Parts: sequence; C-alpha cells; structure tokens
Amino acid sequence: MHRLFQEWISTKDVSIKTKNTTLRQYTDVFNEYNYSFHKPKKDLCDICERYKMLSIVDQEEEKDLYSEHIQNKTIAKEKKNFDKVKSEKDKEFCVAVFDLEKVLITPQQFLLQTIKNVVTPKMRVIIECTLSLKMPKKGKIIYMPDQWVTLIRCAKVKGEPYTVFEMSYNDFLDFKPLVENKIFNWKNSDDKTLIKWNNIKEVSVNFELPHVIQIKYNLSSTDFIQINVIKKKQRGRYDKRIIPTRAYKEKLCIEEAKIQDLLTLCKKGLIPKTYHSFYENLKSKK
Ligand SMILES: [Zn+2]
Repeated sequence: MHRLFQEWISTKDVSIKTKNTTLRQYTDVFNEYNYSFHKPKKDLCDICERYKMLSIVDQEEEKDLYSEHIQNKTIAKEKKNFDKVKSEKDKEFCVAVFDLEKVLITPQQFLLQTIKNVVTPKMRVIIECTLSLKMPKKGKIIYMPDQWVTLIRCAKVKGEPYTVFEMSYNDFLDFKPLVENKIFNWKNSDDKTLIKWNNIKEVSVNFELPHVIQIKYNLSSTDFIQINVIKKKQRGRYDKRIIPTRAYKEKLCIEEAKIQDLLTLCKKGLIPKTYHSFYENLKSKK
C-alpha cells in the first residue's frame, strides 16, 4: 500500500517532504487511525469442509477416505516445497503454480470473469477472479476488473512486486476441437481402464514421448498410469499436431438481466459515478 502511495504522490504537486514519506511514517499513520486489512477466512476444501460437518458416526465411516485425502494434501505440499527450493537454485527449472479461485461472498456477484496471469520470475500464478461488488464496509472495494490488477500488483509486502500480464479475449485458445478429434483417445488408459479425469492428482509429460500422458490417482502410489492419447490405428499415420484456434472472436457478452441489475446498482449510487461508463458499455447477449 505504501508503494501505491509513493506512485500516487509522485504525480502530485506537494512538498519534497510529503513525497518522501517513509514506510515507517506511513505505518504510524496507518496504526494511529486503527486501519487494518481484511483477512479472509482460510479456505477449506470441499472434502474437509464436508467431513467437519459430519456426525462422529459418519466421520468414523469415512475415516479412511479422509485420511487418504489428508495424506495426499501433505505429499502435494512437500512436493511443491521441494520444487520451489530447487527452482531457486536451478535456473533451468521452473515452478508453475496455478491457483484457481472463485472467491468473495458478497451481496452482488456478477458474471464478468477476468483471468489474470501473475508472473514472478520463477512462478506463475493464474488467478481467476469473479469480479464482485462489496458493500462499503472494511477492506478494498472492487468496482471494476482493472482494479484487480492494482490490487494484485501491490499484494506482496516484501521484495519485487508481482508482474501482472493482463489478458484480453483474443488471448484465449480453444482446445475443444482437440478433445473432440477422433484420432485422439481420452477415454482409456493403456491398462484398458476408464480414465477418471476428476480424480487425477498428478500428471507427468515428457517431450520425448509427445503423445503419452502419465497420471496418478493417489500421490502415495509409486507408479504412474500411462495413457497413449493417439488411438491405436491412428498411430504413425500422419502429423498429429493440432493448433488450437482462438476461443473468442469478440468481447464476451453478459446476460441482459445481469446488465440491468448492474445498471440498477449504478442508479442507486451503490457503484460510484466514475465507474458507470464501464457498466453502460457492457454488451448483452442477444
Ligand atoms: Zn481438504
């Protein structure tokens, strides 16, 4: 936040002393007025959340499943930490973390989904934000997608700030034709069992075997299950590279009813005037 302040003050016509307000002075003022940041509740995953709600009898019944879940969670954490440490030493090694969040319980949530890539030199995080409106209480109020960029950019207190790459509708690719293409097999693994896509915990690919995906349903298992994604009779026949096309040809539209709701919020003054043109320019689905 101090960083934000410095950026903002540098453009203002004020004394050098004000411009050079140190982090210390800034913190003092912050504390004096008893300001604080809103701390969101730590997310529990669906499985943990559900388990916590169960009666003791039911918990006993699901004990094994739950401990397997916790075990997987622990292994995943260890693996991630191991890779993080490795990436700090090895320049050739990159850790990519994808965090898909659908957060913010608010009085009004709306459709506009923005996907931002937040990239640090060694780490890539994709945050999927469901843009939401908060009633003016404590914390940061987000009225427009662009504000997320500033918020994320300044999210780190120490070290280099996050680099945010904003993405537009034409940056997204459509992989559906690839999934639907008959030359591919997305159904069975090499051991002829049905692939349970939703249960996969680990995926491994190797550039030397471009059509092979290796998966694990349980992180504690030692061996991977192999999937050859090219159907048997198609193997070796022709070039299997398929270039994905653009997913969207124009800006995404929003339900008409949604737009009307948002414009009502504007009219009622719940969304400040400065942001109205953004909402007035939203395109509705025909
Ligand atoms: Zn959990």
